[in-house]
Formats: sequence, structure tokens, C-alpha cells
Amino acid sequence: MSRPVDPPGAPSPDLAPPRAEDALFMRRALGLARRAERRGEVPVGAVVVCAGRVVAGAHNGPIGARDPTGHAEIRALRRAAARLGNYRLPGCTLYVTLEPCTMCAGALVHARVERVVFGAADPKSGALGGAYWLFDQARLQPPLRGHRGGAGRPRRPAVARLFRRAALNRAFISARNR
Ligand SMILES: [Zn+2]
Repeated sequence: MSRPVDPPGAPSPDLAPPRAEDALFMRRALGLARRAERRGEVPVGAVVVCAGRVVAGAHNGPIGARDPTGHAEIRALRRAAARLGNYRLPGCTLYVTLEPCTMCAGALVHARVERVVFGAADPKSGALGGAYWLFDQARLQPPLRGHRGGAGRPRRPAVARLFRRAALNRAFISARNR
């Protein structure tokens, strides 16, 4: 049984309310984004936080790794799962400086990450409301419900310094059917 999902941009209950630590962990992700930039990658950084501590972080690295799946989120999820000894990460939050793409949003669902906090919206390929709204796909298993928070306008993800001004957008992956 699935509950209704929110259409793009529609008001919705705040399922992923801000937490005091969000800005702190986003700063950690920004540091990783700058590292990616120094290495000639698209500047994106991600950290996975479980029970209030960072268990893994990664910067974007598909070029250097010659890996089309080498996005910051995927690399951070892999490291977090290895560190925690579990392929699922219930109760964890992923902080990422740029809105996840469809591949990464799908991985977040498979990992059962509970919250996603992202910096800049990505109107080109963002899957959490920027270009698509993955949460509309009611047939996805488990069913999803999402909330796009923050009032940030989409920004070009060209340079990491833009991310400092980006809104903290949030999405919530339903805990149902776990
Ligand atoms: Zn991605």
C-alpha cells in the first residue's frame, strides 16, 4: 500500500526537518568538494553520518578512477557500508554538496538511507526535484515519500564556492517496508 507522493515543488509536510548539525556536516562535504576540484573533477563532496558521527566521506572522482559510477555519493555509500559491515544504512543521513543524480538517488534508496541533505539543486540532472522527482515513482520499492526543503534557487554547480551559499535542501526516504 502506498501513500500519495508530493508532486514537484508542491508544499508537503516537513518530513526532513532541519537539524542543528546539518550545516556542520555540509561543511565537511564542502571540504571534500574542494578536494575534487583540486583534482580536476566536478566539485562534489559527500559524507555519511550515522548516530551523529561521520562514518565515511568521499569526493567526486569518476575521471581519475576511470569509473562512471565514481560519484561522491556512491563512493561514500560504499565506504560507509564497508565500515559498518552492512549493505544497508538505516537511520543514516547523506550530506552532499550537489543534488544527487538518478544513479545516486537510486543507490540511496537501495542503501535505505533515511535522510538526504543536499546543497545546490541541479536543474540539469538532479533527481530530487531539480530535473526529476524520483519520489513520484510510486512503483519503486520500497515506496518513497519525499520533501524538498529550503528555498534555494538552482545554481550552476561549476565551482565549489557557490555551494557555500546554497540552501540546505532535504529529502526523506520513508522508513516503511524495511
Ligand atoms: Zn550521481
